[in-house]
Amino acid sequence: MAVIRDVMPAFQLYQPSSVTDAQKLLSQNGSDALVLAGGLDSMDWLKDRIKKPKVVVDLSGIDELKGIRETADGLDIGAMTTLTEIAQNSIIQKKYSLLSEAAELVASPQIRNQGTIGGNVSQDTRCWYYRAGWPCYRAGGNICYADTPVGRNREHAILQAERCVAVNPSDTAPACIALDAKFVVMTPKGQQVIDAEDYFVGPDIDITRMNILQPGHLLTTIRIPSTWAQAEFYFEKVRDRNVWDFPLMNVASAVKSSGGTIQDIRIAVNAVAARPLRLKMVENSVRGKPRNAASGEAAGKLAVQGAVPLQFNAYKIPLMRNLVKRAIGGVQEAAWAS
Ligand SMILES: Cc1cc2nc3c(=O)[nH]c(=O)nc-3n(C[C@H](O)[C@H](O)[C@H](O)COP(=O)(O)OP(=O)(O)OC[C@H]3O[C@@H](n4cnc5c(N)ncnc54)[C@H](O)[C@@H]3O)c2cc1C
Ligand code: SF4
Repeated sequence: MAVIRDVMPAFQLYQPSSVTDAQKLLSQNGSDALVLAGGLDSMDWLKDRIKKPKVVVDLSGIDELKGIRETADGLDIGAMTTLTEIAQNSIIQKKYSLLSEAAELVASPQIRNQGTIGGNVSQDTRCWYYRAGWPCYRAGGNICYADTPVGRNREHAILQAERCVAVNPSDTAPACIALDAKFVVMTPKGQQVIDAEDYFVGPDIDITRMNILQPGHLLTTIRIPSTWAQAEFYFEKVRDRNVWDFPLMNVASAVKSSGGTIQDIRIAVNAVAARPLRLKMVENSVRGKPRNAASGEAAGKLAVQGAVPLQFNAYKIPLMRNLVKRAIGGVQEAAWAS
């Protein structure tokens, strides 16, 4: 169990000033190293003495990881760019407002000033058993404390759970998926460019990780192609309190329509599974359909097929159905309504 003490375990702190040096340090130290970005997630693990890395690689001195640059085909966003910069950037607001809206709805202004996009998409789950140091499946044990008749699982998964029922809590991740973003990762073997949706992994692939990053890997850039520039965007986040709170669920969609008919669409939801889910079946079902309440209704029903509630999160099924319905049909009614 977590024991709160007044000092963190000692570690060697490195503050490289280039991606090459950071990646080299991560490769040399393998699973003994922890990447430190804004520190909002990683510092919790250190302060609670649950993660005890021998080496911490602080990315804050690497200028090449910071900032937003226009490219021939869209935007390159450095992994260390803060959420505030993303929320306030005029190009993102004009062309890819799905991402600026998602970033603006993360937590509080102070957290957005410090939290980075790379950290936001790479953050760990908030399941309180796991974060409190309980020896569950995700922590390498052989039990899930949340998935029991009395487990506290109101915020947990309704889809794609396998032993672990934790969810991914990122607000920006589904927006990146809906914008067809690519994640650029520096590895010991060179650079890898991964589709945003493939960056995230569920417990069926690896129950101890939320994304594909292995020891020695560094996320450097989030690349937004111009494909969906100035499309019709919809982002909605439902949370318990309108400040400083993780999503109970969110939905992000990008639509291209003509004469009221959906030509093409991307839609993703988060906080329903251990990874943000792109809803390809929904996308396929609404292409060529009118963008109206009836299409939204049908899409919402399709989206929740196969959803399995836990003891205390059955509300998530109508919530997901209605968020998808609203994202597609633009229906203005309570997302909670069944
Ligand atoms: C009180 C509170 C409320 C919050 N509410 C929300 C919310 O509503 N919505 C939301 O989306 N988020 C929320 N967050 C998360 C927050 O927004 C941060 O974005 C997130 O915790 C991590 O960002 P960071 O830059 O601090 O990264 P860190 O905490 O430093 O890193 C997070 C993880 O990613 C890894 N990492 C970071 N950058 C890289 C990189 N470039 N390459 C490889 N690995 C990397 C780290 O090793 C660590 O495992 C909240 C956090 C707190 C503390
Ligand atoms: S939901 Fe996952 S992280 Fe939470 S207790 Fe169960 S196995 Fe652990």
